[in-house]
Amino acid sequence: MIIVPEREIADLMTRAAAFDAVEKVFAAMAADDAYNFPVVREAIGHEDALYGFKGGFDRAGKVLGLKAGGYWPHNLEKRGEINHQSTVFLFDPDTGKAKAMIGGNLLTALRTAAASSVSIKHLAREDAKVMGMIGAGHQATFQLRAALEQRSFEKVIGWNYHPDMLPNIAKIAEEAGLPFEAVDLPGMAEADVIISITSAFAPSLMADHVSAGTHIACMGTDTKGKQEVEAALLAKATVFTDEVAQSVSIGEAQHAVAEGLIAESDVHQLGAVINGTHPGRVSADDITLFDGTGVGLQDLAVAASVVDLAIEKGIAIEVDF
Ligand code: NAD
Repeated sequence: MIIVPEREIADLMTRAAAFDAVEKVFAAMAADDAYNFPVVREAIGHEDALYGFKGGFDRAGKVLGLKAGGYWPHNLEKRGEINHQSTVFLFDPDTGKAKAMIGGNLLTALRTAAASSVSIKHLAREDAKVMGMIGAGHQATFQLRAALEQRSFEKVIGWNYHPDMLPNIAKIAEEAGLPFEAVDLPGMAEADVIISITSAFAPSLMADHVSAGTHIACMGTDTKGKQEVEAALLAKATVFTDEVAQSVSIGEAQHAVAEGLIAESDVHQLGAVINGTHPGRVSADDITLFDGTGVGLQDLAVAASVVDLAIEKGIAIEVDF
């Protein structure tokens, strides 16, 4: 069995490898070659922790496993450890034997950023110039860095509920050599691509804040009750997702579906666009919206990729198990 500890991930995993892994697994999901298992999430009644499993099987890539972990809200203050903790376990699909154990914390951020990035590659206008960010927390920096690689952006604009956090994303724009401008929400009309990555339970971005031709990746809503954008925006957009069942139950589409503004059949898999079975953006004026809910297969895909890289570089720890 191979172990790749959390401390090795930053040096091993590249944004390009994460992008490839996620793009391939979205395609496999849409081709019915890969499927996610039902998610388990439990309040364990200890340390106020939420613990769970996200698993799946990718028959095409022969990747079987699960991500176990969750949220321990007191870690930082009590122990100086980060609150989100996860570990990925991979199994040999031919024998069922445990194959690898991989630190999952940084991988979660990289696979989430890769998902919005894949959506930008396949759905944003080629001539997109202005990148808009809603959110400036931990995930936002990963999201922006990956997004900027997808088009020849000339400027980044940003809004955050807590304006004092905006320097986090301004720094990423600066690293990429791009000007950054803080805007109000109506100012998002200037953006060609918008990523929202917040923990909000009420919409910030309204339908009339978004111009024709924009691509929006909604990445923060991964639980019942969360919401980042007005439900009416989904009715104006062509809606895509990683997994339809999650999108309409715990993703951004949950609200538009509940309000009867769109039907489940209006939500399409991004993998179908990758595979060429859905046309994706049809005209330059279309608004496209990717509802990125986060699936276990994304975690397994990037973890399998990291195992390959660790073996290649000779730093995989091998234990008899
Ligand atoms: P964080 O705590 O570092 O940042 C939270 C962000 O939300 C900040 O920008 C904050 O200003 C903003 N915010 C807080 N309250 C708000 C409100 N009422 N209205 C608008 N904005 C508000 O969190 P993070 O690690 O960056 O994660 C952000 C979100 O992404 C979380 O909801 C998390 O669950 C989600 N997430 C999704 C996936 C996925 O696969 N889709 C993966 C990881 C995290």
